[in-house]
Amino acid sequence: MCILTIDFSAVKDYKLCSKCNRVFPETTEYFHRNKITLSGLANKCKKCIAEYRKKYREENKEKIREKRKKKREELKKAQKISLIL
Ligand SMILES: [Zn+2]
Repeated sequence: MCILTIDFSAVKDYKLCSKCNRVFPETTEYFHRNKITLSGLANKCKKCIAEYRKKYREENKEKIREKRKKKREELKKAQKISLIL
């Protein structure tokens, strides 16, 4: 795992990533925005979320494809209904 070099001198607040347990400056540069959390930032750093998403995509290719298909069909249905109305 590579070690990030961060200039902490200019940073006021730090945030611990709940996944990799590393400390990053509490900014949107390292964390995604998340309205649910107190800080307004996600609990996992961007890198961890990117890895998680990548892994999820790889493990759920079929599921994602099915979901997309379903959504498309629902959209079509909705368009049809709006045409009738
Ligand atoms: Zn992390």
